[in-house]
Amino acid sequence: MKITDVKVAIIGNHPVVRITTNEGIDGIGGAESPRNQPFFKPQIEYYKNMIVGLDPTDVERVLLRIRRTGGFKPWGSGVSAIEVALWDIAGKAAGVPIYKLLGGKIRDKVRVYNGSYRKGFNGYTPEDFAENMKWMKDLPQNFSIIKQGIAFHGSPMLKGMSDFYYGDYVAAEKYGNRGVLTEKGFNITVDAVIAMKEVLGDEVGLALDCGPGLTASDTLRLAQALEPYHLMWMEDTITGDYTPYVHPDYFLQVTPYTSTPIHTGEQIYLRHGFKELIEKHAVDIVGPDPLDVGGIAELKWVAEFADLHNIQMAPHGTVDGLIGLAALTQVSATLPDNFIAFELPSANPEWWNDIVEGIEDFEVTDSHITVHDTPGLGISFRVDEAKQYLSEEDTGFFDD
Ligand SMILES: [Mg+2]
Repeated sequence: MKITDVKVAIIGNHPVVRITTNEGIDGIGGAESPRNQPFFKPQIEYYKNMIVGLDPTDVERVLLRIRRTGGFKPWGSGVSAIEVALWDIAGKAAGVPIYKLLGGKIRDKVRVYNGSYRKGFNGYTPEDFAENMKWMKDLPQNFSIIKQGIAFHGSPMLKGMSDFYYGDYVAAEKYGNRGVLTEKGFNITVDAVIAMKEVLGDEVGLALDCGPGLTASDTLRLAQALEPYHLMWMEDTITGDYTPYVHPDYFLQVTPYTSTPIHTGEQIYLRHGFKELIEKHAVDIVGPDPLDVGGIAELKWVAEFADLHNIQMAPHGTVDGLIGLAALTQVSATLPDNFIAFELPSANPEWWNDIVEGIEDFEVTDSHITVHDTPGLGISFRVDEAKQYLSEEDTGFFDD
C-alpha cells in the first residue's frame, strides 16, 4: 500500500488531516481546536512531500521521516495528526481496532474525566466555585473526576481581583501572567478548593489546573495546605501548557515535599521531552496529549516509561474534538495500570456529532467509555453530511 495524498481542512473549529492510499483505504487525524490557525496547513503541506509513496501501514517508518521536525506545543500537532491517521489506515487495512496493533487492550472500558464541559463563572468567591462545581457534578456523564482551573489557569480571581498576585493582569491568549500570589489571593484559592470539595464529597475526585505561572514556593505552600482535601492532582503549576521547556528541577522543589500529587506534560513533545521529568521523579503524574506529543504510539511509550518509574498517567485532551476522543480511547485501552483517566474532549461545534459515523460507540456512562472493536479509530466521516461544512478552499478534502 502507498500513500497517495495528505489532505488538510478546517472543519468547524478543528484542523483535520486525511491520508489517502492507492488501495482505497483512507485515514483521519486531527489537532486541537485552537489550531484553527494559519500555521497548521503549511505544516501538513511540508510533511506531505516527505511521505507520499511510503507504505502507511509501516507507521514508524513513515514517522521517522517527519518526527525530527516537530516541537513542543503547538509544533508537534502536524506530526501527531499524521501519526493518528496512519494508525487509522493500519487498523482498517488489518480489519482491527488500533488498540490491537498497540499490543491489545487490557481494559474493556476506559475512565474519562471532565476538563471540557464547562459553564461560565458569575464571580470569584468560593460560593461561585461551589455553584460551578455543582453544575459539573450533575452532568449526565456522571464524572468520577472533575478538573477546575484556579490561580494562573484562567481563574476568575486572576481576571477579577486586582490584588490576586503581585503583578498586573495581562489578557494574553497564552498564559501572559506569572508571579507571587498575595496572601489574600492564596487564601481565597484555598477557600475555593474547600468549597468545591464540600460539593463533591468523597464521591468525586477533584483535580486542579493551576498554571503555568506559579512560583515553586507558592506551589508547595498550596499543595501542602490542600493535603487534607485529597486532590487527584495539581496540574501545570510552575511550567506547563505552551511552555516550550520542562525544567524538572523546578518541580523537584515541590513534589518530594507534599502528598498532593503534582502533574504536568500536555505541551511536551516526544518521549525525550519526558525523559528527565520521569527519571528524576520530578512529578507524580504525567499528562501527554496524543495530538501534541507525537501521536498515540508515542503516548503509549511515555506511559510505559512512566509506569516503570512508578509515575501515573492522566492524558490531556480537552479540545481534541471527536478524532482526539477516538484516539484517546484506543490508546488508553492499552495503557498499564498507571492509567487514571483521560480528559474527555467534546464536539466543537456540536454538529460534529452529526458528521461522524460511529460516535455513538464513544458515549460516556458513569465516567467510562466502552471500548468497541470497529477497525481503525472506530469513527469515520459521513461524507455527505460533512461536505456542507467545508470552506471553499477545502472543497476537495473528501475527493480521492
Ligand atoms: Mg492543563
